Amino acid sequence: MLNIALFGPPGAGKGTQSEFLIKKFNLFYISTGDLLRKELANETKLGLQAKSIIAKGGLVSDEIIVQIIEKTIKNNPDVNGFLFDGFPRTFVQAYILEGLMIKLGTKLDLLISIEVPENESVKRLLERAKTSGRLDDNEEVIRNRLREYHVKTLPVLDFFKERGNYTAINGVQPIADVTNDIVKIINDVLSKKLINIVIFGYPGSGRGSLGKALAQKYNLEFVATGAMLDEEIKKNSKIGQQVKELYETGQLVPDEIVIRLLEQKIENSKGVKGFIFKGYPRTLVQSYILDGMLRKHDSSINKIFDIQVDTLELIRRLDKRSKTDKAMPYDSSTERIVQRLEEHKTKTIPVIEKYKEIHDVSVIDGTPPFEQVFEQMCKEIESSFKNLATG
Ligand code: AMP
Repeated sequence: MLNIALFGPPGAGKGTQSEFLIKKFNLFYISTGDLLRKELANETKLGLQAKSIIAKGGLVSDEIIVQIIEKTIKNNPDVNGFLFDGFPRTFVQAYILEGLMIKLGTKLDLLISIEVPENESVKRLLERAKTSGRLDDNEEVIRNRLREYHVKTLPVLDFFKERGNYTAINGVQPIADVTNDIVKIINDVLSKKLINIVIFGYPGSGRGSLGKALAQKYNLEFVATGAMLDEEIKKNSKIGQQVKELYETGQLVPDEIVIRLLEQKIENSKGVKGFIFKGYPRTLVQSYILDGMLRKHDSSINKIFDIQVDTLELIRRLDKRSKTDKAMPYDSSTERIVQRLEEHKTKTIPVIEKYKEIHDVSVIDGTPPFEQVFEQMCKEIESSFKNLATG
């Protein structure tokens, strides 16, 4: 997700810039001013409560703002990110925004402050008043709105300066130049953002080969915990020896060991654009581990695939694979195959269900030939990460 807030005094050009930005970065637009005007036009309870305050150029209560924002977010769960215009406007709203982002499992990436001196704001708003039809576009109310901005809204900047995700740009330039400055800042943030994709699917659904091919195409690090454990055994490292013993006695590898390997992998992958995880997380516990680990690196999961293939087809594929040199240890007998499928059903499906509550999980039909499934996944990735260059 990419979440941005446009900040600045009335008349700074937030609405004008938003029109372009939501298209370019595929963002969902939330302008609290527009939302309030809609409530007003529909003469809802909220609208009626807010009317006299808006007409005087005051700030509507934080309680009303929370309600309209929550409603809008709830009605639009599957978006690429949000562009907030005119929110947060008070110190309290800055906390509200943080809380909303946490609830959505994401964060505000950037607060862009469009800086315009007061006399310029007044000039622009008076000009706008000729055509806007807004009840708050007249000189007396404009002065009041600016006063509110100085007293209640400007302190919000300190909140974001402290968090380090604040940038100011010069708003007294031609519109296209302001846009260019904003796009540059956003692209900069996007280029530093890790792309973390998790691929779910039953054994035999093609997650491994699809994940590897995607990682190669988009220059991402492929992370398959099963293969990492095998690698340790091959190296005969200390972890490898432990794992071998566990395998031989038929025990599961404890999460502590896998955590250490994953940490090492992430640490050693400095400078990569992101990761594709396959075979992890497999349990609810592991989903919390992965979320925590990525959070440590100021990152999070931002794309999830669930590749679905009919059970009979899975068994057919796994049986076929067991007779080739690509055979996995768990392909060896029907009993092991059934055990693996069963484990996915009981332990991993609940993880996918958990993620569905906060992420947009792309369900992919894994039955068609490899190339077709691959192409479908590429399309989804490219629409989610518009700035992604292929490797
Ligand atoms: P705008 O369209 O952003 O200029 O907002 C117009 C008016 O709506 C403001 O002057 C406020 O009265 C009200 N308003 C919009 N957003 C907020 C907000 N986040 N908090 C409080 N009042 C708001």
